Amino acid sequence: MIITLKPGTTKKGIEEVVQKIKNLGFTPHLSEGKERTIVGVIGENAILTREIFEPMFVVESITPISKPYKLVSREFKSKSTIIKVKNVKIGDKEIAVIGGPCSIENREILLEIASEIKKAGGKILRGGAFKPRTSPYSFQGLGKKGLKYLAEVGKLTHLPVITEVMDVRQIELVSEYADIIQIGARNMQNFNLLKEVGKTEKPVLLKRGMASTVKELLMSAEYILSEGNSRVILCERGIRTFEDSTRFTLDISAVSQIKILSHLPVFVDPSHGTGRRELILPLSRAAIAAGADGLMVEVHPRPEEALSDGFQSILPLNFQRLMKEIKPVAEAVGRKV
Ligand code: PEP
Ligand code: MN
Repeated sequence: MIITLKPGTTKKGIEEVVQKIKNLGFTPHLSEGKERTIVGVIGENAILTREIFEPMFVVESITPISKPYKLVSREFKSKSTIIKVKNVKIGDKEIAVIGGPCSIENREILLEIASEIKKAGGKILRGGAFKPRTSPYSFQGLGKKGLKYLAEVGKLTHLPVITEVMDVRQIELVSEYADIIQIGARNMQNFNLLKEVGKTEKPVLLKRGMASTVKELLMSAEYILSEGNSRVILCERGIRTFEDSTRFTLDISAVSQIKILSHLPVFVDPSHGTGRRELILPLSRAAIAAGADGLMVEVHPRPEEALSDGFQSILPLNFQRLMKEIKPVAEAVGRKV
């Protein structure tokens, strides 16, 4: 349930409520707005304690949260969340585009790609060091060496960097090098992994599982927030349907839906979402029109030589074009690039 405190409630007043929640064995989640502070009381049967809080002087109102996900819901926080990563603001008026190779292959190619991303106006550099591959014989990523290249190239090009963790045991290492931790589609319901990244201070980009509903995605995000980390970015990356002309079916409706249901920023990955490079530009425009806060796009200067996902990687020149073409769409929906 949500306890809304009266405007002007002092720190001591807030603390009193927080303490009472803790004493009852629930977890308090504070959201301090300009005018009012609201406190989420999360836990099974939390609503049964309503009568205990109602008579308190500082309490203005109490509302149950009807959704199964609480902290990620717009009911809990009506204002959209903005996540600051270095000099980039995610979820604000400006659209943030993440670009980079599927896998980090070597320092030179990464630097070449990153420079192009930066030049075109991309805001964040991506690159996988631990790759979730369908075949155990496919390239699995450079591991720690890759993370080092990523951090170094990010510094050189002044781009924050994002990379995937596949396992709880990689979190500490990846946190040393990455500015944003990525949880891949295949791990969206790896609840132990979600809980562990929830204990870190790093922003997390959580990709939708290829066979998961929007509700399940939000429940997975709830795992991260319930551990204390509220800096979560959701990412639509396509789902499995009967349609086989694309790698996955990019669910643009999920973007607009999540925007209604949650205050968290939403990104779209048209590269994995379609698996076809000629569809990336039009679907990037569609994603922005639907309300996406950002995109994640795979870029490679020689896709035919890429160690993974070359077929869906676009050339730096086309990334430049993409950045130009999403601009008027962003402006049409009150955003900017
Ligand atoms: C990726 O972004 O590198 C990736 C593997 O994506 P997904 O988890 O969406 O398949
Ligand atoms: Mn990929």
